[in-house]
Amino acid sequence: PKPANAVRLRATLDSVPGYKPGKPAAPRTDVTTYKISSNENPYPPLPSVLEVVRESAGSMNRYPDMGVSGLSARIADELKVEPDEIATGTGSVGVLGQLVAITCDPGDEVVYAWRSFEAYPIVVALAGAASVQVPLTSDARHDLDAMAAAVTDRTRLILVCTPNNPTGPVVHADELERFLAAVPSDVVVVIDEAYLEFVTDPEAPQAIDVWRRHPNVALLRTFSKAYGLAGLRVGYAVAHEPVATALRKAAVPFGVSQLAQDAAIASLDAFGELQQRVDALVGERTRVFDALRAQGWDVPETHANFVWMPLGPDTMAFARACDEAGLVVRPFDGEGARCSIGETEANDRLIEVAGAFRGSRG
Ligand code: PMP
Repeated sequence: PKPANAVRLRATLDSVPGYKPGKPAAPRTDVTTYKISSNENPYPPLPSVLEVVRESAGSMNRYPDMGVSGLSARIADELKVEPDEIATGTGSVGVLGQLVAITCDPGDEVVYAWRSFEAYPIVVALAGAASVQVPLTSDARHDLDAMAAAVTDRTRLILVCTPNNPTGPVVHADELERFLAAVPSDVVVVIDEAYLEFVTDPEAPQAIDVWRRHPNVALLRTFSKAYGLAGLRVGYAVAHEPVATALRKAAVPFGVSQLAQDAAIASLDAFGELQQRVDALVGERTRVFDALRAQGWDVPETHANFVWMPLGPDTMAFARACDEAGLVVRPFDGEGARCSIGETEANDRLIEVAGAFRGSRG
């Protein structure tokens, strides 16, 4: 029974899973710890970006530019789109919430692959909408044919995560084109490209070109990964009218701080330097992937800054072994562990722990 003073909250909250962030590495004196649980960029901020942020911090008694005009114009210029086709938000997860808010009434359906980004079921449930989760293929890829078949007349939004978090593969250009031809043109299809800059697969779509040809497609991008601004919370959608205008209506007023706006512009200015870091991380990804495969792990092809280790019932034991070695990974109990590509030392240690774990299991 409810206590007499219980407040009335929405019943739908009971179905909302809480977001489980990668836990911080516990302080240790015996070993250097590395957090490879949240797909963060392991490099510290660029000096040029820090300088801009310091300067910007002097105005933090003021609200930021609510229209995020400078950053939107800058992104639009890079992508050769109109500034009003850019809609920003508090991290791309913030924009995702806006996307659900502008498309879904209670009871409407959102189709996405599963397993995928764990915020999807949360933002969908918060809107009172229903998640339709379509299992990944046995090689951890989107099953776009099954996703198209899962669309009903209640479907208002489809999320395509490429590369897929937490498994790593990309959807291919030809299958995406087939998919878009198969789904109703009044259903918004979001291509979540959080890890776009790490993609090296020649079969991956040029999503911006796909977007230009499809009025119902929106791209979702972030400054948290390749740009290394996870702590500042800024992401954006590239969307056509009226989606972009609706997204701006649904934004939290002043949700993107001036520090974040200025840092994002400075990061675009410094992308040459950031690209070198991305290249180094991609090189490290290949090294880790090859080493794990050589040890016998069935790691799916990855085009993001992480690898997926399908561990099944051994998942939590592996996460404990990593913990003991000073590595914080992201386990999904019963399924597998996602391990971000981090500092060289962290990657070395992951290879070492994975090898020893495999040896100990025969
Ligand atoms: N999409 C995907 C697929 C992600 O993995 C993440 C971050 N883990 C996000 C969106 C959200 O990132 P942010 O809110 O930091 O932009």
